[in-house]
Amino acid sequence: MSSHHFLLALLVLACSQALASDPSQLQDFCVAEKMSQVFMNGFACKDPKNVMAEDFFFSGLDKTGDTMNKVGSNVTAVNVNQIGGLNTLGISLARVDFAPYGLNPPHIHPRATEILTVLEGSLYVGFVTSNQANQENKLFSKVLSKGDVFVFPQGLIHFQYNYGTCNAVAIAALSSQNPGVITVANAVFGSTPPISDDILAKAFQVDKNVIDRIQAQFQT
Ligand code: MN
Repeated sequence: MSSHHFLLALLVLACSQALASDPSQLQDFCVAEKMSQVFMNGFACKDPKNVMAEDFFFSGLDKTGDTMNKVGSNVTAVNVNQIGGLNTLGISLARVDFAPYGLNPPHIHPRATEILTVLEGSLYVGFVTSNQANQENKLFSKVLSKGDVFVFPQGLIHFQYNYGTCNAVAIAALSSQNPGVITVANAVFGSTPPISDDILAKAFQVDKNVIDRIQAQFQT
């Protein structure tokens, strides 16, 4: 192998590693055995002899989520917890409902890229880059209408806002069986036990009483 080909092979290997989200599967399927006492990455496999069509099935994504909450949005997740057959397959789905002026607040999926399409209404959406060399965190944002599609890269803070007076509905596909969600405000201001207000006052460069007021909004 010439050094040129060797470098190319290395590059291909590096790319395939970087592109992988969930680990690749070693069999047709590995339906989650939720009762297993084995703790592993993902779920242990149900005996394939007992696997049924129902293990790959979910019903109800036609139903409107309840948006009567502080942010006016609701996420109906369809991941490995709802469909055991998604275990090891590296993919999942969510329906997001928005009341007028409803917000899916800034959040992160630690294990997945998200691709979202608007079914009804219009949304103002965006994501922010990680810290760049020039100290910048750049916002990429766009107004989406029915039928439009937008991508939120894995691990980046993103949001969706219904700035219209009608309800909005979107479907998101995610590149993990279990994407995870970190809602930034809740994680930072509503952890149990709370992060010290000394720490948050310094991090956010405001007085402690401002932090205390925000923390009070996220006490559960
Ligand atoms: Mn998301």
